[in-house]
Amino acid sequence: MSELHRFLFEGLPVRGAIVRLTDSWQEVLSRRKGNNGGGAYPAPVRALLGEMAAAALLMQSNIKFNGALVLQIMGDGPVKLAVAEAQPNLGFRCTATVQGEVGEGAALSEMVNVLNQGKCAITLDPKDRLPGQQPYQGVVPLFGDKREKLERLSSVLEHYMLQSEQLDTHLVLAANDQTAAGILIQRMPLEGEKNREALEVGIGVTEDFNRISILTSSITPDELLNLPALDVLHRLFWEEKLLRHEPQVGLSGPHFACSCSAERVRRMIESLGVQEAESILAERNDIEVGCDFCGQQYRFDAVDAAQIFTEAHKRAPGSAGVQ
Ligand SMILES: [Zn+2]
Repeated sequence: MSELHRFLFEGLPVRGAIVRLTDSWQEVLSRRKGNNGGGAYPAPVRALLGEMAAAALLMQSNIKFNGALVLQIMGDGPVKLAVAEAQPNLGFRCTATVQGEVGEGAALSEMVNVLNQGKCAITLDPKDRLPGQQPYQGVVPLFGDKREKLERLSSVLEHYMLQSEQLDTHLVLAANDQTAAGILIQRMPLEGEKNREALEVGIGVTEDFNRISILTSSITPDELLNLPALDVLHRLFWEEKLLRHEPQVGLSGPHFACSCSAERVRRMIESLGVQEAESILAERNDIEVGCDFCGQQYRFDAVDAAQIFTEAHKRAPGSAGVQ
């Protein structure tokens, strides 16, 4: 079963979390495989999405944000877009848009940073957004400090956390077709300016973090994918004083969840306008919209479409209600 554990190191300004997605991750892949519009992703894309899902859940549980955390890679190679979204209740979903050939064993840059234009964005979209309020978004390129192309999602996200949040973070991520897993270690933020000072002073202030970070690096992708989460923690930190929060497993644990609905699709068709909807219906018998995240197909025939626009018209008396 999929699980997430958050933990602290007693007396040290370091916290962390480990996530293991099994059933929920397999569900993502099997839905995609069964999706007649898409079909299975190439293996390197599956691995990237698995790591993204694990990372999005780790970051969401770390900041406990009341809204969706959306991790996106906007690629300039065959992978145009990869998205993983994690909700506060650890519901998650992900999808990718692939156009063109992704070679077997393709590196990250070969998928999304061929022309040096690839970007990674993290968006925090508040649950109860006020009218006019924009979601917070931070964007980083897929390069390291020496302008080298980053080949690991974990390096991209560590960079992001340091640049945009001034937080030392260490991440290890791994995914195959059975499991997507990750571990995150972070130096706890200090108040305001002190945080910047701590970064500048570096060693000493962050000595504990550095030690724990080195321990974390010693886990191999194989171990992360195949060992139970608590065994990984024991193996890495048996000499440290670890305080674990209540594990999040089962109903309160990470799970696949899609927020698409027939109502949302109706509103989308409404926004197309009567003319566009009618021209689609003239070509084929129904308007068919598939959800990229879960594979659900929504079908609307001419009668359904007419009803959508009649209702829209009622909601906005005096207007055509189509724009
Ligand atoms: Zn859906």
